[in-house]
Amino acid sequence: MKRIFSILFAIVIAVSASAKLKYIFYFIGDGMGSNQVLAAEMYRAELEGRIGRVSTLMSQFPVSGSLTTFSASNGITDSSAAGTALATGSKTNNGTLGLSATGDTLTTIAEFLQQQGWAIGIMTSVAIDHATPGAFYGNDIKRSHYYAIGEQLTESGFDFFGGAGFHYPQGKKDNKPVNLYDLAERKGYTIVRSYDEAQRHLADQKMIMIQPADTGKTHSDNIDYAIDRRAENSTLRQIVATAIPFLEGKHKPFFMMVEGGMIDYACHGNDARASIDEVWAMDEALQEAYAFYLKHPDETLIIVTADHETGGMALGNSDYTLNLQVLQHQHCSAWALTEQFKTLYAESTPSWEEVKTVWQKQLGFWKEVEISAEEEAVLRTAYDSSDPEKISQAGVSLLNRKSKIGWTSVKHTAHAVPVFAIGVGAERFTGWHDNTEIVPLIHQCLAKPKKCRR
Ligand SMILES: [Zn+2]
Repeated sequence: MKRIFSILFAIVIAVSASAKLKYIFYFIGDGMGSNQVLAAEMYRAELEGRIGRVSTLMSQFPVSGSLTTFSASNGITDSSAAGTALATGSKTNNGTLGLSATGDTLTTIAEFLQQQGWAIGIMTSVAIDHATPGAFYGNDIKRSHYYAIGEQLTESGFDFFGGAGFHYPQGKKDNKPVNLYDLAERKGYTIVRSYDEAQRHLADQKMIMIQPADTGKTHSDNIDYAIDRRAENSTLRQIVATAIPFLEGKHKPFFMMVEGGMIDYACHGNDARASIDEVWAMDEALQEAYAFYLKHPDETLIIVTADHETGGMALGNSDYTLNLQVLQHQHCSAWALTEQFKTLYAESTPSWEEVKTVWQKQLGFWKEVEISAEEEAVLRTAYDSSDPEKISQAGVSLLNRKSKIGWTSVKHTAHAVPVFAIGVGAERFTGWHDNTEIVPLIHQCLAKPKKCRR
């Protein structure tokens, strides 16, 4: 595979003299530090019975670097300040979206390209008005003003949005006179609720692709975790696979931002297995962009990076071993496990044996995963709390400890995050940059697609 990439890299250098950048893919793994990628890769190698890596597509790109992520107000950024930096090239305060630290309205790279006649697609595995997608079209002093940000989405004129639905289509208190889906339809958007339905509307003017369960009336947070996937819901890959022909049909250059938003959610819950599956889910979505790149190598740039790291994920918590393969016995996300315990406790207080059965089924405890007397005592304490969330967490954190993964936080960290790139101007992204430098580097690629040789 390495050889294939060195050949591709040579091709890119060779065509660079006549290159013109017409297609930009900007992938952002929310919460995806280097260790989130490495854990995903080393986990798959352990499943093959060896120590090493099964490489993601992103880590095989010929160019890699790192980004610092601190915000204007905090050493540790939130997703709105980081999204704003990645979308506009300016730092801002935590909680602020699309405005500078002093309150000036910023222009995003997507808005700039739209003004230049490009088609624009914004997609995510979380809500389409969440901080990262919102940073590409929204401006608000508070990222939590979801309804106002949703209104801005409908007014953006961008061609394609995909993900879960709006957070609060009728406002947080359900009291807004206009439903955001109705508003979007009035502004020319076709709302589609599945991959199959979307395929019938590829020639429509503008599209918002959401999940089948979204009635347009309910709070909508995210598409399923990859580990909990229900067949009827779209994957991030299907959203990207829809957006590419949709935007191509506009017969213009296009820009796409794709967020793997659920890596962050998994890491807030210190749920290594769910995080691993989310990294691979984003990498699968990246395959669609890469297939497009192979058809247009002298006109396409793909950048993959992250807004920040979440959880302070460490590979190693005691000795010189990793035991990532034990995570294969986890069969649902920590979030879904909590939901199961909540349902169980809603009926009546379950017995210790009943709770053990859930841990056994979903985490492999007392079956594939040996549990010592000491570990059982910890689980027993959690059971005695009668708190479904604590009981779920006790199981997942025990499995994480056994995998030798450590966590320093349930929030974000200031860890540097990776950057991977391929295509026109890609090597500009080599090295150690700040998150405000990506947009200026994209502008350089647009102005002078010809590569600067190192
Ligand atoms: Zn987060």
